[in-house]
Amino acid sequence: MPKRYALFALLCITGSAIAGEAHQHGVAQMTVAIEGNTATIEFTSPLENLIGFEHAPRNDKERKVVQALKEKFQKPESLLIPTAAANCRADSVDLELPGDHGSDGHADLHATIMYRCKSPVALNAINLRLFDAFPRLDRIKVQLAIPGRQSAVELSRKRPTLSW
Ligand SMILES: [Zn+2]
Repeated sequence: MPKRYALFALLCITGSAIAGEAHQHGVAQMTVAIEGNTATIEFTSPLENLIGFEHAPRNDKERKVVQALKEKFQKPESLLIPTAAANCRADSVDLELPGDHGSDGHADLHATIMYRCKSPVALNAINLRLFDAFPRLDRIKVQLAIPGRQSAVELSRKRPTLSW
């Protein structure tokens, strides 16, 4: 029973949570905008979901963890996989990691990834391998904007593909 109530509460807050920058461990936010031959993906996640800590790295081990995280996002084709037939390639990756961490002890990674597609007409899905790459990540609240339509969807480990 409690599980069902939790799910219900979740569905109710989804709309407003997407609009805000709610920092909730286990949950990340994403916007996907398709326009012409480009797909622009903005991803914001508590660092906790990605590396297990949110303080500035304190030692070599933690610095390596942060470096590995950056490298993962520099190769977004292994994290976010557009429809193969659309023939998309990552054109740019912009990563923001907090240099100085907030006084509340929480910190987010913000990534903007732009794909350019040779056959954009074929683009109708993006598989989010983020769930495989980051075991602490449970849900991603996605806002999708394609020409003429906007929608919000929540993806999870069991439902990792955004399609339209
Ligand atoms: Zn946090």
